[in-house]
Amino acid sequence: MSNLYDVIIVGAGPAGAAAAKSAAKNGAKTLILEKYPTIQANKPCGEAVGSKALETAGISPKSDIIVNVAYAQVYSPSLKRIDIKDKGYLINKSRFIQELVIHAVDYGCNVKVREEVKEVNYDQNEKLMKVKTVHGEYLAKVVIGADGYASVTAKSLGINEKPEPIPTVQYIMVGKNFRDVDAVRFYVANKWAPKGYAWIFPKNEKMAEVGVGVRGAPAKIFLDKFINDFKYELGGAEVIDYRGAPVPIGGLIEENIVDGAIIIGDPAGTVIPLTGAGIHSSVAAGLIAGEVAAKAALENNNSKQRLMEFRIKYDEYWGSRIRKSLKVMRVLESLPDEMLDELADVLSDQDILDLANGLDIKRVALKLLSHPRLAFSIAKSLL
Ligand SMILES: Cc1cc2nc3c(=O)[nH]c(=O)nc-3n(C[C@H](O)[C@H](O)[C@H](O)COP(=O)(O)OP(=O)(O)OC[C@H]3O[C@@H](n4cnc5c(N)ncnc54)[C@H](O)[C@@H]3O)c2cc1C
Repeated sequence: MSNLYDVIIVGAGPAGAAAAKSAAKNGAKTLILEKYPTIQANKPCGEAVGSKALETAGISPKSDIIVNVAYAQVYSPSLKRIDIKDKGYLINKSRFIQELVIHAVDYGCNVKVREEVKEVNYDQNEKLMKVKTVHGEYLAKVVIGADGYASVTAKSLGINEKPEPIPTVQYIMVGKNFRDVDAVRFYVANKWAPKGYAWIFPKNEKMAEVGVGVRGAPAKIFLDKFINDFKYELGGAEVIDYRGAPVPIGGLIEENIVDGAIIIGDPAGTVIPLTGAGIHSSVAAGLIAGEVAAKAALENNNSKQRLMEFRIKYDEYWGSRIRKSLKVMRVLESLPDEMLDELADVLSDQDILDLANGLDIKRVALKLLSHPRLAFSIAKSLL
């Protein structure tokens, strides 16, 4: 049957494109379906990644993918600044995704754009997945649902749990001479972004992404207030792009696997909660899911139990990071601005990296234990 594939991937974002590359590389007859007419970054994104994200994706840092190389500045409510010297990249996310798809096609993957998936079902008798699109029907031994936060795949398969979202709004602003073009800036303060943060990511001297993620408050109002408070540098800049989208920061959902399917990326909650960064962690999920799906399909075993290998492999490193970052987020979201300022006096750049990325949070907690107020309000909750 020409419409029968080993692995079908729904959605060509970072997660799906990585899954397509990995499934095809592991010998599966693979198809990726994308609802938009073009494979590109179809939703707003800061497009900032650590340098290791490209390594994970197997993409070399070519000039058409890297827009800017930048370190990070983290600001407290009273604008105390901590510099994180590790360099990361602002990428052209569209080119990044396309590069993954080029790799996938090199390994033999088929691609269909303008092919929105409407429904995915498991046929118990044939033990095959049926993927209904706007134009027809495909069959697969395994489906990887990488179709973003509103995932149709997850919904049709009865996976109703959704990671808690943080609403975000981002402008691309042009026309000013933006300062510190070699730095992405994070502003952690309830007055600018309750239970979230505001950011300024310069792409070059004349163009910057400026956004907020906030919970329990209207994001656009807070973004405009932030820009007004920084009018000495942002005032008069023109907005050439204004979009928003939810970022799932609630951590991994309990069950992202059913017979015949693995859900990955945003609908599975693979975003690092405190930073809201989801590109690297969803690419990692795609690579693992693609490999597991390909092997399971070639063994003719698409049972949930077989596909659970994804969870074992992903949870070992990424799941643990996501859990720890979520723990830190739950502590920080309850702190008033005065306490965030106190914290900024104590934390080093390495401490911030470890906390934000869910790395060595125990080390930072032990350090905070020696500060009377921070020990009580923060350190104990992190241990
Ligand atoms: C404002 C904002 C700023 C962000 N900034 C950063 C950042 O700087 N760094 C970072 O690492 N992360 C950032 N993120 C998070 C990051 O964008 C996501 O976590 C990441 O893109 C998730 O990838 P994904 O492949 O799971 O989903 P998506 O990127 O959402 O891709 C899903 C794909 O599936 C397709 N699709 C959807 N439905 C269907 C269907 N029915 N049929 C076929 N195709 C379908 C979509 O068109 C899309 O191509 C940001 C998010 C937002 C909203």
